[in-house]
Amino acid sequence: MIDEKYEDSLLAQVSGERLIRNTGEIARWVRLSGEPDELESFQWVEKELVAYGYRTELTSHEAFISLPGRARLTVDGTDIDCITHAFASSTPSKGISGELVYARPGTDPGSLRGKVALVDGMASGVSAVKYAQAGTLAQVHVQDDHLHETSVSPVWGNPTDMTIDRIPSVPSVSIRQEDGRRLKEALDAGPVSVKLVTEVLTEWRQIPLLLAELPDIRAKEFLLLSSHIDSWHYGAMDNGSANATTLEVARLLFERRRSLRRGLRIAFWSGHSHGRFAGSAWYADRYWQELYDNCVGHVFVDSTGGKDAVIVTEPPVMPQTHDLAAAVVAKVTGEKFVGKRIGRFADQSFYGVGLNSTFGTLSEQDAEKNRGTVSFKTGGKRAGGLGWWWHTEHDTIDKVDEMNLVRDTRIYLAAVYRLLSAPLLPYDYRRAADELVEVVGELDGIVSARLDLSQVLESARALQDRLAALYQVLATVADGDERADLANLVLLRLSRHLVPIAFHENEPFDHDPMEPLKPVPALQPARELAALRTDDAGYFPLLTRLQRKRNWIRSELESASRLVDGALESLRPEGVQAAATGR
Ligand SMILES: [Zn+2]
Repeated sequence: MIDEKYEDSLLAQVSGERLIRNTGEIARWVRLSGEPDELESFQWVEKELVAYGYRTELTSHEAFISLPGRARLTVDGTDIDCITHAFASSTPSKGISGELVYARPGTDPGSLRGKVALVDGMASGVSAVKYAQAGTLAQVHVQDDHLHETSVSPVWGNPTDMTIDRIPSVPSVSIRQEDGRRLKEALDAGPVSVKLVTEVLTEWRQIPLLLAELPDIRAKEFLLLSSHIDSWHYGAMDNGSANATTLEVARLLFERRRSLRRGLRIAFWSGHSHGRFAGSAWYADRYWQELYDNCVGHVFVDSTGGKDAVIVTEPPVMPQTHDLAAAVVAKVTGEKFVGKRIGRFADQSFYGVGLNSTFGTLSEQDAEKNRGTVSFKTGGKRAGGLGWWWHTEHDTIDKVDEMNLVRDTRIYLAAVYRLLSAPLLPYDYRRAADELVEVVGELDGIVSARLDLSQVLESARALQDRLAALYQVLATVADGDERADLANLVLLRLSRHLVPIAFHENEPFDHDPMEPLKPVPALQPARELAALRTDDAGYFPLLTRLQRKRNWIRSELESASRLVDGALESLRPEGVQAAATGR
């Protein structure tokens, strides 16, 4: 259904020289959210898009942004090199002093109250909440050989009056592992007292948002292609090269726009690094209904073309976007795709809306050669993160490899081209339904004595059957077939029912907190319920929540089945009788 020859000629036009040049242009600025240098980089990207022929809009919006400043850690009168983090709190200017305690895995949190916790690994929203609840005075995180910037807010996007207090107010710093080792040795020998001074600027401020639209497309449906421009340090790979990828995809598709069936909307975010995805979350808040009605999916571009980023088989996808990703990765690299389930990261602010998502990051280092580094990893077996320079001052243009960047850009270009030009949207929801049956079935096995999930499981199995029938019929929809519009509408609407229940936990108009994401997150606490005693104080409150979440999941599954039923009648080729699909 895709004109492969046409696609080949499109992919052959990706220019390595242009990609490297544009990466260098963007990496001229340190791009802190809402700072003047960041705005200059946005203006440069906008100028490029206008030169290609795009309609653009560069605006700004309010965002809760946090920029780490000075940090000083002193032990026995000696300073240890350290950094503080976005959304960590500032100490009083004279600093705070306290006893250092090594929070080994398994340490009783009660023993950390009023102490400075020495913690292995990157700071995160999850760790910040944990140690704030334990009543620690501050945390000192031990990273690898480099100091990687990060954020410790658990709140996704701008906080509300209901969530702003969930951002912990505890100072935190990170140190290198060699310094961490010395501190642990000192602790073995006796008590260690530390002094900490941190400055973090956290405030509401305006940040930029750049939108671009492909002209001359009549369809109201559009794909959202996005990348963040804001960066830590010069951020040549994260995210200059990805911005260059986005621009190159934009440039080449502009020239082929008459072959596209759907519109392309490109967004460049700020607030990704310093506002916990504040830009994309704000966009979801502002344009929720338009996205819900017409957006056919989200493709996010991050950290493409890294030096030695040889693993391209494990990028994050949803079950329904797995086959699309596998096809384009195989086409460009010849490698067999494995993929991993996409989580809560990478400006994935659209699960509540119900957008199918393809990719978050793409290529990673070889895990074998990156043992012991703490850089961002999405969890695959062979994938070893984004490189030792990730989120450090060393993320400079020499960390971007032209060949890898051309490869990654071709993968993105092929995925976006297929999403825009395929006669039928290239999503396979049979995989999504299979996952739902598997997950609900597993949870049912664990919790059935306490919470009845059998009807949810039945609804999920019924959807499996409906989808089997639907895809049989879709295989008969040829190019130019008048049934294509209805088929595409069903392929879009199915995501609105299935993405929220599989990837989102709270209200569709809210953003979930920045925590690890398990499939069908709203039902996952069934595991906790199974472990509680019925006379535990928390038993009935949790049971009550799960009963309500169960009803929501079932209702979405039923709606999805009704949607397919309603369309099947009209989609069946004439003369083909409805096959019995009931169990
Ligand atoms: Zn990034």
